Order: sequence, then C-alpha cells, then structure tokens
Amino acid sequence: NRRFLLARRPEGTPVPDDFMLVSEAIPTPPPGGIVVRNHYASLDPAQRGWMDDVESYMPPIPLGDPVRATTVGVVHASDNSDFAAGQWVMGLNALEDYSVAMPGGFTMPIDVTAVATPSNFLSALGAVGLTAYFGLTEVAKPQPGETLLVSGAAGAVGSAVGQIGRIMGCRVVGIAGGEQKCRRLIEDYGFDAAIDYKGKDHATLVAEIAAAAPDGVNVVFENVGGSVLEAEVFTLAHHARIVLCGLIAEYNSPDKLGLRNLWQILARRATIHGFLIADYAHRFAEGGAQMARWLAEGKLRADEDVQEGLENAYPAFMRLFSGANTGKLVLKIA
Ligand code: NDP
Repeated sequence: NRRFLLARRPEGTPVPDDFMLVSEAIPTPPPGGIVVRNHYASLDPAQRGWMDDVESYMPPIPLGDPVRATTVGVVHASDNSDFAAGQWVMGLNALEDYSVAMPGGFTMPIDVTAVATPSNFLSALGAVGLTAYFGLTEVAKPQPGETLLVSGAAGAVGSAVGQIGRIMGCRVVGIAGGEQKCRRLIEDYGFDAAIDYKGKDHATLVAEIAAAAPDGVNVVFENVGGSVLEAEVFTLAHHARIVLCGLIAEYNSPDKLGLRNLWQILARRATIHGFLIADYAHRFAEGGAQMARWLAEGKLRADEDVQEGLENAYPAFMRLFSGANTGKLVLKIA
C-alpha cells in the first residue's frame, strides 16, 4: 500500500521534501469498516489549506498522515453488510492505494455504469460540479439578464459556474490566465467575454472588466482573491453579491493578502457570502442528478486533466498553482 505522506508543513509554495512516499502492508477492515482500493483521487486547491496548522472548517492533516483527498474506488474488503467487495464508492480518503473507511461519514456508493469514467464523480458529478451548482443557484441566485463575473474561470469550478450561468440566462464574463485559456472560455464554455488577468496592472484590469460588464457586475463567483478581487470590486453594480468560494492567489502566501478597497463594498451596498460545499452534502443526489442531465443534454462540458501515478502526486498537485491544469485535476492511482 503506497501512501503519499505529509512529512512537514509547507512554508509558502510546497516543495518535494514536504512529502514522502512510503509503502506499507494493505490494511484490513476494522469492525464495521471497509478497505477501498482507490482508483482516482481528486487534487484540489483546498488540500494546500489542510496542510497548514491553522483553524479552518476541517482539522489540519496530521504530520506523517497521507494527504487527505476525495477518492473513487472499489471496495477491496468489507466488514459492513451495506458494502460488498467489488462495489464502487466515493469518499473522503487520502492519496494512497488503499484507504480504510468507516461508512456513515462521507463514504457513499456510486453508480459508474451511467458515466463515461468513474473520475466524473470527482469532476462534474462530484464536489467540484456541485460547488458550482449550489454556489450559484443557492447562494448567488442570479436572475436572467444579470451579469455574472467568474474568476479562475477556466478551472474546474469556474468553467462549470460560467456554463450554469449561461443556462440561467446571465451574461457571463470570465477571468483566467493566458490567451489560450481565454479562448477556451469563449469557444468551449460559451462565456460572453473573457479577460486575461496576467501581467495587467490594477487600472487596466478594472477597465477591462468594466468594458465587458457595461451595466456593472451583479454576481461575482470568486475563486482567486488577491489583486483580481481588488479590481473586481470597482466594477460592481449596486447590491451586487460576491460568492466567496476560494482564494487560490493566497494559498501559498505565508502572509495572507486581505482585501483592500473594502470601501467599494460599502459604497455599492454589496454582500460577500462565504460558501462551503460541505454544507450541501445532504443535497448531493439532487445536484448530481441536475448536473448529469445537463451533461447528457450537451449543455455542460466537463473537462478533466488526468495525471497518472501516485509517485507523481507532487508535480501533479503543483499544476493547480502554475495554472497548467486544463479542467478538473485528477490523479489516476490504479
Ligand atoms: P482549478 O481547476 O480552477 O485550478 C486552479 C486554477 O487557479 C489554476 O488553473 C489557475 O488558473 C488558477 N490560479 C492558480 N494560482 C493562481 C494565482 N496565484 N492567481 C490567480 N489564479 C491562480 O481548481 P478548482 O476548480 O478545483 O478550484 C477553484 C477554486 O474553488 C479554488 O479557490 C478552490 O479552493 C475553490 N473551491 C471551493 C470550494 C468550496 O466549498 N468553497 C469547493 C471546491 C473548490 P489560471 O491559469 O487561470 O491562473
């Protein structure tokens, strides 16, 4: 059982020595538990936060433990009558070949017969797709004709948010890094306008967003933070809603960035709403069914960036921070 351990807490950007790949015996199920052979693991920006020893919505990954990750896999051995060996499941496990799981937590059976690949349960049909779905439909509640601005727009969450925004009748503007990603926003995901944030100073970024949103931005779906968010607040319409989903610009920054220009929130009577997908776990079946329908109808496109091998977990994970990933970043383990 190869396991990708957190050997020490990264300072700023993670380096290879922060992790260690070890090999141990395959575990046996504890009373009432199961052992899952992991096939695919989700690589998420959130994992970077779980590596820090700070108070958050989840405890930090203990040093010496494998890096926590959502995985999909097959029950290898079971001491639980609800889970038979050979059955596909997803759950919050770790970057390792085999995980011990206690059903009742996040472990749930999945039906892989209706999907192109089981990794779809880590992208469109998993937490990422549902983050886009519930964050937009339940928190932001955009109205047809409103302007939706999405940062990190070419990524897994962002590309789904933009497409759902289009389905809901919004004008959708995306912010992403580089010309190629901006082209994909328009051509592949149907955004109305795309803005490349790289190498732009504050005034230029504000001017470009304002030009793409002539009536002001009604809803911001924020995945990035930092200088991108600081520019966005100057383009808000009155009573705009900002869904604070992620702040990837500061995950590797030892000094958290904060938000200057907070006065713009006040002057424009805007709202910032922190959002965590975990709060919608009880509605995953409902959201997943809607996402599956849109996928089947061809209204939604969900790209995956599948990297191979547990031994490549470090370089694969770093693709999230260099922007190399094109779609939901997944590590194929088995
Ligand atoms: P993505 O597929 O969007 O990958 C990360 C992308 O972030 C990169 O491709 C890169 O795109 C961009 N990025 C990386 N570093 C920076 C930087 N310093 N400044 C600006 N952009 C940067 O990942 P996900 O879709 O999985 O996650 C997107 C966001 O959603 C994250 O902030 C994540 O934490 C959040 N999230 C929140 C959840 C919640 O419950 N609140 C649940 C799931 C995700 P580019 O090339 O455009 O720079």
